Amino acid sequence: MLVRDILSTKQIGKIISVTTFDTVSSAAELLSEMRIGAVIVRDKGNEMDGILSERDIVREIGRRGVGCMSDSVSALMTTNVKSCTSTDTTQAVMQMMTDGRFRHLPVMDDGKLLGVISIGDVVAARIKEVQFENESMADLIAGNI
Ligand code: AMP
Repeated sequence: MLVRDILSTKQIGKIISVTTFDTVSSAAELLSEMRIGAVIVRDKGNEMDGILSERDIVREIGRRGVGCMSDSVSALMTTNVKSCTSTDTTQAVMQMMTDGRFRHLPVMDDGKLLGVISIGDVVAARIKEVQFENESMADLIAGNI
């Protein structure tokens, strides 16, 4: 299965984003409202400035307390964002997430941001894939194919 197949089945099709000038508090409100774990940070068009995850917010609260909620998003976001393409495989993106220790990956084709996939999306897709492989193998062994 490819990343584009994951994108086509996603409930939230649109890209949820904040700007670098938004407050951490308003970004947290958006994460809660949309029931997601990270938002893309971008000020104009498709250019991505960073990613802000719930983990960034919790880490900063642990470090400095709730005062960080009035900081701007730019203070807490990760700017060195890793992305995948729509033709990457589920195994490849799972490896990227494991190696990078993050649970969200923007999907970019030719510099255009197409969406964001989460580890939950990837695991669900991988389970489907493995189930299909198992059923095909069982059919093969049983002589149904
Ligand atoms: P996550 O596990 O995705 O909630 O994020 C863990 C940490 O990795 C946070 O500091 C995020 O800002 C950062 N992060 C999340 N996604 C990415 C990504 N695609 N590329 C680089 N850093 C990321």
